[in-house]
Amino acid sequence: MEPILNYIDNEWIDPQVNDYAVVINPATGEGIAKTPLCGKAEVDMAAKAAADAFPAWRTTPVQDRVQYLFKLRDLLKAHMDEIGRTITNECGKTLDEAKAEMVRAIENVEVACGMPMMMKGEISEDIAPGIDEIMLRQPVGVCATIAPFNFPGMIPFWYLPYALAAGNTYVIKPSEKVPMTMQLIFKLIEQVGFPKGVVNLVHGSKDAVDAILDHPVIRAITFVGSTNTAKYIYRRAAENGKRVQAQGGAKNPVIILPDADMEMATKIIADSAFGCAGQRCLAVSMAVTVAEARNSFTELICDAAASRVVGYGLDHGVQMGPLINQASKERVEQLIGLGANEGASALVDGRGTTIKGYEGGLFVRPTVLADVQPGSEIWKTEIFGPVLSMMHVNTIDEAVTLANSHAYGNQASLFTSSGSAARKFRYEVDAGNIGINIGVAAPMAFFPFSGWKESFFGDMHGQGMDAVEFFTQKKVVIERWPKEWSRKF
Ligand code: NAD
Repeated sequence: MEPILNYIDNEWIDPQVNDYAVVINPATGEGIAKTPLCGKAEVDMAAKAAADAFPAWRTTPVQDRVQYLFKLRDLLKAHMDEIGRTITNECGKTLDEAKAEMVRAIENVEVACGMPMMMKGEISEDIAPGIDEIMLRQPVGVCATIAPFNFPGMIPFWYLPYALAAGNTYVIKPSEKVPMTMQLIFKLIEQVGFPKGVVNLVHGSKDAVDAILDHPVIRAITFVGSTNTAKYIYRRAAENGKRVQAQGGAKNPVIILPDADMEMATKIIADSAFGCAGQRCLAVSMAVTVAEARNSFTELICDAAASRVVGYGLDHGVQMGPLINQASKERVEQLIGLGANEGASALVDGRGTTIKGYEGGLFVRPTVLADVQPGSEIWKTEIFGPVLSMMHVNTIDEAVTLANSHAYGNQASLFTSSGSAARKFRYEVDAGNIGINIGVAAPMAFFPFSGWKESFFGDMHGQGMDAVEFFTQKKVVIERWPKEWSRKF
């Protein structure tokens, strides 16, 4: 088994801890690594290294700081296949899905390379005679990211490249379920040759998180994960006076109007609902058919669900991998059962899946639940598995009301060929990301990323200019230089 190490002050450190979390390949169920569950001592070392590195990194000119990122981008590109295979082996998604997340990670590095333009200040001359007002952007200090399991390569890159380019130093804590991807990426970070302590890696779970939330030198924290944890992180970090943004869970509706191109809609919706085995915060998980869209869509989506090729993500032709672990498989299967108890009917039922050659794998095949009742437990709960709940209404107004009645607000999609329906939807739906004939409305790196309502806690978001805002603090300087003084020379 590959040892999982911390990377602190440019050294690989084997932490002396008592507890470990077993990392499995979810396609086989076999243990492939052990994550050391670090705590206060290790977080303290990393935070101290980052704090010591901050003054010199901050004074390194921004155009020099981004040179490190240009190098990191080239290394990430060159090692895409190796990183992708590691993601598949510890996270379960297919190799294509794993590489796609790295494309988005690299895109964020590329956008952050524009930091010389993005963190420029502003000046207003002569706000009164001889007085100028200047706005400077300065880095925040030591920042940290607490990451979830489902995008082990991409999610830290919504933040890290912007933070570093803006002159901050950093601590990353990956999910204890998937430590290997970041360990591999940190081997590339080591090759880049950042100055000591600029970017640090600490493994662990709740103890490490609490140590980050309470650490006095850590000034800003980004979190991505489930809503309950997001609320906890947001509250505790804010109590400690830190800048914080916390992305939470989701339950994304997709509305299908009768004028949609049904074949195209079905293919895109199936990819969204069942891709990454539904373990994606932008997966559509509630399909609302309007009027006569019901029959054709139901038939097509059931065919798409039943015919999806499920297996080990490195095997040729596989379209969907397993869930992350046994607990997740059991939970998803129980929720499908709960749906049936609440009156839904499983038109395609993925429970009890076994894949030949991967009998220990944690697979649940795509599942379609029809007649899910709004307000029921299965409707309210984020399933985070390949389960599409179906509902039916008669008008787009009812569909929008249904979408808006949900507590989450990460994404909402509409399939239609009507421009006015699309405009109404975009205008009225309460969600941070809207897809019109799009199943996974994931913003490019130069747009902000976050949800609304119970899917997000904070103000400034990830990616692009929002990340620049988050990782810089503005300082306003007002200067008086009377003209008369210059006559002295
Ligand atoms: P999670 O909340 O279980 O864990 C996320 C991180 O928090 C991990 O690093 C974990 O170690 C830590 N953590 C877990 N429990 C904790 C606790 N009680 N106290 C302190 N720290 C704790 O989430 P997950 O299962 O890894 O990820 C799946 C969830 O993430 C889903 O709900 C999904 O919707 C969400 N997600 C959201 C987005 C988004 O952009 N909104 C993106 C990806 C995933």
